[in-house]
Amino acid sequence: MKEAIVVGAGVVGLTTALTLQSAGFNVRIISKESVSNTNSSRAGAIWFPYRCGEQAQANAWAMEGYAEFEKMASSNRTGVSMVSFLVLERLVKHDMPYWLGGVPKKAIRLAEKNELPATYQRGHFIAVPLIESPVYLPFLKEVFEANGGQIEIEEVLSLHELARESRWVINCSGLGARWLCQDKSVYPVGGQTVRVGVMPGVQALVDEQDDSLSYIIPRRDGIILGGTVEENSIPTMPNMDVTRKILQRCHHLQPLLGKAKILDAQVSVRPYRPTVRVEQEPGIRLIHNYGHGGAGFTLSWGTAFDVLRLVKQAG
Ligand SMILES: Cc1cc2nc3c(=O)[nH]c(=O)nc-3n(C[C@H](O)[C@H](O)[C@H](O)COP(=O)(O)OP(=O)(O)OC[C@H]3O[C@@H](n4cnc5c(N)ncnc54)[C@H](O)[C@@H]3O)c2cc1C
Repeated sequence: MKEAIVVGAGVVGLTTALTLQSAGFNVRIISKESVSNTNSSRAGAIWFPYRCGEQAQANAWAMEGYAEFEKMASSNRTGVSMVSFLVLERLVKHDMPYWLGGVPKKAIRLAEKNELPATYQRGHFIAVPLIESPVYLPFLKEVFEANGGQIEIEEVLSLHELARESRWVINCSGLGARWLCQDKSVYPVGGQTVRVGVMPGVQALVDEQDDSLSYIIPRRDGIILGGTVEENSIPTMPNMDVTRKILQRCHHLQPLLGKAKILDAQVSVRPYRPTVRVEQEPGIRLIHNYGHGGAGFTLSWGTAFDVLRLVKQAG
């Protein structure tokens, strides 16, 4: 049987592992952290190609993801559902916002003026996949294991040592690639979120023109409020002052949130790279798949399919 090792058990590693399994590979994941301790486990997450390198390429990957998530939304156990997401613009800078390139036309509606919070010039409602990470990642893990996959918790020190003649190694180590591949172009962009209690009638939305990136994502375990964009930073603990500011900003966007009860706050990291790296290392059965920035969920299926294309091309 064809063999592969995937390094990393975040959303990118799990998706890549499942894609290889579906092509007949016997797959083992090696990861420093368990699935529930990865950065991916602390993300929102919603389909949105935010901070993820070159836009045309990101949109193409995002579209592949959109189609895959849309299929998964038909089952409740995946943690994926289609929701209405309002993308706000304070200032209209372009005819069309860049991310619309990755969305099917039928999923987009221009918001009426009276549907926008004060001080916003334009908004689009788009039907997008909501990917509830506390349900989705365990679901992927369960399917991977049911297909015979195994996860080993161990730190990999050399990718070249793992790659043998007949076996593929796929590097999905996220920010870990900064040290594992000595790739200093991938760097941390920290983020904090606050989770408040579920309440009806709250609209999912984002304002990415805000320096701090404001967003509201209603999930079944609470409403995720964000956020922060901390360049070159790996936050280790939520900051109370930041929590207050996030609440203030989100309250301005959705007055309903004035009554919200805080449940907890989280910090995590986006593995940002000017371009997401999906390529084979010359002369060796090693493929890199990392640097998904603020859109690892959004791009995960698209980049995993590219990994499989590279494996097939190599024969
Ligand atoms: C606050 C916040 C909100 C976000 N919201 C969204 C959103 O709404 N939509 C969206 O699409 N994206 C979102 N993102 C971005 C998304 O979370 C990331 O792009 C994604 O989690 C990256 O996944 P990954 O698998 O590459 O990395 P990770 O989840 O960090 O996984 C990396 C894996 O590699 C392993 N590893 C690293 N080094 C080694 C080593 N040497 N040996 C063995 N294992 C190793 C780690 O243990 C881990 O298992 C958000 C990010 C943040 C911070």
